[in-house]
Amino acid sequence: MAAVDLPTSGTFTLANARVHASLTPGLEAQFDGDGFTLVDIEVADGRIKGITAAAPVRVDATAVDLKGCIVLPCFVDCHTHIDKGHIWPRKPNLDGSFPGALNAADADRTARWTAEDLSRRMDFSLRSAYAHGTSALRTHLDSAAPQDAISWPVFEELRERWNGRMELQAVSLIGIDGVRDSDWFEQLARRVAAARGVLGAVTYMVSDLDELLDRMFRAAIAHGLDLDFHADETDNIDAVSLRKIAEAALRHRFEGKILVGHCCSLARQPDHHVLDTLDKVAQAGIAVVSLPMCNLYLQDRRHDGTTPRWRGVTLLHEMKARGIPVSVASDNTRDPFYAYGDLDMLEVYRMATRILHFDHPVGDWPKTVAATPAQAMRLDGAGILRAGVPADFIIFKGRSWTELLSRPESDRTVVRDGKPIEAELPDYAELDDLMVGG
Ligand SMILES: [Zn+2]
Repeated sequence: MAAVDLPTSGTFTLANARVHASLTPGLEAQFDGDGFTLVDIEVADGRIKGITAAAPVRVDATAVDLKGCIVLPCFVDCHTHIDKGHIWPRKPNLDGSFPGALNAADADRTARWTAEDLSRRMDFSLRSAYAHGTSALRTHLDSAAPQDAISWPVFEELRERWNGRMELQAVSLIGIDGVRDSDWFEQLARRVAAARGVLGAVTYMVSDLDELLDRMFRAAIAHGLDLDFHADETDNIDAVSLRKIAEAALRHRFEGKILVGHCCSLARQPDHHVLDTLDKVAQAGIAVVSLPMCNLYLQDRRHDGTTPRWRGVTLLHEMKARGIPVSVASDNTRDPFYAYGDLDMLEVYRMATRILHFDHPVGDWPKTVAATPAQAMRLDGAGILRAGVPADFIIFKGRSWTELLSRPESDRTVVRDGKPIEAELPDYAELDDLMVGG
């Protein structure tokens, strides 16, 4: 994939690299209207040794001149489902609807998700993410019994195998109703804690939602776990589980991290409801992740011959204005919830720019695919460029936002620990034998 010739020694200077203000904390420089400035990045022993204003006259003949190409830190993808990834060929979503996705995924999981099937599909996904320049990834794992006993050991084995290349985290994914079975849920919380995972659920408006959330918060506190929810992935304005989660967090004075994904219905609710919810979310210190590609695909899908009228995404601008940490992420890839996708966070950012208007001005939106999700995942030093952090970054061909976001940038150069990686995207044909039948 590499387009830039870099020494493999791990020690060099990148001259005339274009970096962004939002991802280079502490850098004293004159940034242009798009937030960019030209710098020299000194790399030694696999780490960034220093970032300084680009020197007007070059004395170091060994420096690699990037001629103004953009350099971003490696991506952090904080919401994925690599256990579901790539099952589309054997289990498509025939009508593209949300219920269609749930039914197809349930049927496929019950029939096909052995350890080998999971391990091969998950590894395929990780190789794609790695080749695109992602260095940290959080996945949800379908954890209703008996799948929990199969998927968690597979995840732990993969995390071991990918150690040093991909920082991996897993979240237990169950419907919130699953919390009603206290004994089983306590067992799951213990399993998650043993795997150093994150406790999660999909929330929707069941009559005992407050009580079930209380149980989740109590379990998270007892086991020292962070929380990660799927909330309100619907256009139904009565879906207010984001607000319920915020109220529960405040009720329990929860001190761990909480990440909430989707929150689609918020964009359909009356303003006074929205403002009340956002105040509580900000007060509770909750971070939100939007999944723009999946939302665009599933929300407002119609079967009456009419055209979708809304984009499906939540209110990221209003959230960010209130200081709520906001991210965007991949979500599903080539499964019944989203027929496409390749865990390429540049694609996610490009799509988010268009769907959510991350432009004019760009401001600090680039943090949504790097620095902010890194904080939500407690990864100090990831998602930023700064002296002292590992030299994990991506060199693009683009020299401006319009160049960067107009082409796929398939020839980007991914550098990990100061060395260009050799990784190639895996061939779909590798999975053909897993796709037979269905
Ligand atoms: Zn999801």
